[in-house]
Amino acid sequence: MSKRDYYEVLGVNRDASEEEIKKAYRKLAMKHHPDRNPDNPKAEEHFKEAKEAYETLSDGQKRAAYDQYGHAAFEAGGMGSGNPFGGGAGAGGFDFGDIFGDIFGGGRGGRTQAHRGADLRYNLEITLEEAARGAEKQIRIPVMEECETCEGSGAKPGTSATTCQTCAGHGQVRMQQGFFSVQQTCPRCHGSGKQISSPCKDCHGSGRVKKQKTLEIKIPAGIDTGMRLRHSGHGEAGSHGAPHGDLYVEIHIKPHSVFERNGDDLHCEMPISFATAALGGEIEIPTLDGAARIKIPAETQSGKQFRLRGKGIKGMRTHQHGDLHCHVIVETPSNLTDRQKELLREFEEISQSDSARHNPRAKSWMGKVKDFFGQ
Ligand SMILES: [Zn+2]
Ligand SMILES: [Zn+2]
Repeated sequence: MSKRDYYEVLGVNRDASEEEIKKAYRKLAMKHHPDRNPDNPKAEEHFKEAKEAYETLSDGQKRAAYDQYGHAAFEAGGMGSGNPFGGGAGAGGFDFGDIFGDIFGGGRGGRTQAHRGADLRYNLEITLEEAARGAEKQIRIPVMEECETCEGSGAKPGTSATTCQTCAGHGQVRMQQGFFSVQQTCPRCHGSGKQISSPCKDCHGSGRVKKQKTLEIKIPAGIDTGMRLRHSGHGEAGSHGAPHGDLYVEIHIKPHSVFERNGDDLHCEMPISFATAALGGEIEIPTLDGAARIKIPAETQSGKQFRLRGKGIKGMRTHQHGDLHCHVIVETPSNLTDRQKELLREFEEISQSDSARHNPRAKSWMGKVKDFFGQ
């Protein structure tokens, strides 16, 4: 199978910034998320393709390897196993390592036993603060439970199920086929060994009804979008006493008004006035643990990043705090009064006399432009 180029998948240029790659991936992930496209089997494929491309291009080392060797970088002999992304699993089924255990070990749903109950997936939205600190949440999930009306027998109250006469309650019958005698599931009772002449109205003879169950979900601190928590035995009930499936709670972190998360690091934008940028000063910035003050040195340019060590999110597996990166944006003043305009004009005039000194970046830019035109 030929694979599409990762840059093509995300629709970005080869020199796209981390931010552009992230944006492109988010857009695709929203568009193709299987939960949003239940009737379109192609959506999951697109979703996985985008996720795989993003996983590679958002990781500096993997991206470099990919740029140099293409998909071959991750094939057998390249970086370990045949598929670095865990493969095979459902949407977003990546290898989350130890605490998530053997998720999807046997393919989606893990239906190695014929009658084991189906796995359920629950998409849980949490806030960034909840993800950072950990939380306890209650969720309501649909479950099949024993019918109270008939106490699980499936027979109308006052009546009872009788033993199936075809199989004498064994659930299996022997059929003669030529010289052989083969064992088969009883066609009359479908293996239950019982027969219900007047079925219970509430469960239509199945002995089970659909109910809502409340579950406490403990969310470990540091969890990130796409990670799943497994709750064994909270999936759908198995048939004929077979075990329940599992419940997978998939975490989705809501967009935050101030912070963007990237791994365990947080990023925020920080507008400052151009006077503060030029003269320096102290400003207050938000962190997850409240406000912090940082010093802005004189002559700070727009785009400069300030890193606050340890003010990111404490990693779930690393147990170490990420950093908070503040991106300074020098704001052009607006709604100026006549007096302010006058002062700026005056400022510009007296700066003109030695503009190269006051605008070093413009000076070097002019140099490049001249080189470009070969002057
Ligand atoms: Zn019933
Ligand atoms: Zn039978």
